[in-house]
Amino acid sequence: MSPSSAHDVCVIGGGVTGAGIARDLCLRGLSVLLLEKGDWGGGTSGASSWMIHGGPRYLEFDWDTTRTSTKDAGYIVSIARNLVYRVVFLIPVLPHDRNNIERMETAMEVYDRFQPLKKAHPHRRLSRAEALQAEPGLTPDLIGAVTMEEWGVDPHRLVYANVQDAVAHGARALNHTRVVDLVRDGGKVIGVRYRGPDGVISEARARVVVNATGPWSPEVSGMAGVPVQLRPAKGIHIIYPHRISNFSISAESIDGRDLLMVSHSGFTLLGTTDDDFYGDLDSIDVLQDEVDYLLQGIERVFPTIRRYRPVRTTTGVRPTLYKWRRYEDELSRRYEVIDHAGEGVEGFVTIAGGKLSMYRLMAEQTSDAVCRKLGHQAPCTTATRPLPGNESDVEPPADLARRCGVPALAAVKLQTRHGSNAGKVLEEGGTGRLLCRCEPITEAELTFATRHEQVRSLADAFRRVGLAGGPCAGAACVMRAGEVIGHELGWSASQRFEAVREFVQGSWLGRAPVLGHAGWVQEEMAQGAMRGLKA
Ligand SMILES: Cc1cc2nc3c(=O)[nH]c(=O)nc-3n(C[C@H](O)[C@H](O)[C@H](O)COP(=O)(O)OP(=O)(O)OC[C@H]3O[C@@H](n4cnc5c(N)ncnc54)[C@H](O)[C@@H]3O)c2cc1C
Repeated sequence: MSPSSAHDVCVIGGGVTGAGIARDLCLRGLSVLLLEKGDWGGGTSGASSWMIHGGPRYLEFDWDTTRTSTKDAGYIVSIARNLVYRVVFLIPVLPHDRNNIERMETAMEVYDRFQPLKKAHPHRRLSRAEALQAEPGLTPDLIGAVTMEEWGVDPHRLVYANVQDAVAHGARALNHTRVVDLVRDGGKVIGVRYRGPDGVISEARARVVVNATGPWSPEVSGMAGVPVQLRPAKGIHIIYPHRISNFSISAESIDGRDLLMVSHSGFTLLGTTDDDFYGDLDSIDVLQDEVDYLLQGIERVFPTIRRYRPVRTTTGVRPTLYKWRRYEDELSRRYEVIDHAGEGVEGFVTIAGGKLSMYRLMAEQTSDAVCRKLGHQAPCTTATRPLPGNESDVEPPADLARRCGVPALAAVKLQTRHGSNAGKVLEEGGTGRLLCRCEPITEAELTFATRHEQVRSLADAFRRVGLAGGPCAGAACVMRAGEVIGHELGWSASQRFEAVREFVQGSWLGRAPVLGHAGWVQEEMAQGAMRGLKA
């Protein structure tokens, strides 16, 4: 075991909540160690619907969550301007829907009261003809529609921007590092024992340990001998590598739940399910039934959906607070900051529940609790302090493209990830040669991400720069990406090949549930080609 280090606080979990807490505490002047067993945002945060939203759905049973998350969403969109974009929904109303057009409009009128909090526009009511003009792919059976505005976000970059700022303010942040146990002194938690990517076990002392492990929080709290009870709920998405519509579209599923077809910046996400989950959090399968359930619901309002070819699925488990009896969908998205001193365990705090759309507030309140325990007085500044890349305005993308010799679309994409730091990424990363044409990513960005953003695998590169996120799903770029990362990390030829093979196998698991007949044939060929290649 390597010798121990000492910090004010150790935060376990590098999802949006843990990253937000680490940033908040560092900005308040505390020394922080942040540990993530996989990659930043690789848990529930990355598997979300990629939306910063207020949740009009919760208005029916949890008004406070809508108000809280809308208000916090307002702060998030102003500190992370480069990462967010407007997502406009068309909510078509069909005969026999749960809500008729009047009820739907009334709900939107109520939601409009919250919309200014997150800088979104009020709804509009559309006649049948107006709705079909806006999106001709909608079913002609519709009676009318209402619009609703939310924000889209890249959750992987949002998490990483928080990690990056925490590090800039003194944090030590380690990914691929799993906490295997807590260090205890009688009834007090005094640190953590963790296993790094090299397999070496180390110890770190901390005055407070924060458990921010989302759905894994019962497992980690178990290390301290205290229970945290959740009602974990699994959700899946189907991903299409392009925009099917310029609008996002909502639909009712066969059991009356709300489904969404969300038009993100360069792809469409169709989701989501919400089912009690009892399985292994580290190995979650997407079932064919779940895929069919989503397609069936969307098909009712968007009849041609089955003609489009998905590239993959995603899945994650919501860290919902425990409640007996209610349907999964009706569970509150409230959160709770638990100081386990109340159960006789000092120095240990858990944050459980909540949503990505209010991660900043969850981080603020957890950090407040930690500061109280440490007797540390410093105000929270994260509501107004910009995340990295937002401190100044971005240069016009055409200028950046000309200056650095990259296509304009590549410059735009780079700016969405790095904001005003995009130029620095290109200059420092070297060549502006494109790594992948379908999702224009430059080799410079991947080089930069490997040098400075803790990319250690091709899957990390997917989260940091969007590698293999486009229509080719990696077919055209993973080999070259393996070379670029391998060059930076000093991998041998066989290590590079192994990294590519591992990525192709891993991404196959997410693709299998949406491969039609042609997709399986193509997949067999791709896998065969891989087997035929030698390092
Ligand atoms: C299908 C789906 C769609 C959703 N859509 C939205 C949405 O659009 N908008 C929204 O606001 N919310 C959405 N949510 C909810 C939102 O994603 C979550 O509430 C939020 O991302 C939880 O973040 P977290 O940091 O608490 O958990 P996570 O992101 O899961 O982070 C916890 C981290 O802890 C790490 N960890 C676990 N154990 C250990 C250990 N022993 N050592 C070190 N690290 C460990 C994990 O690897 C993980 O990365 C959605 C959820 C799901 C499932």
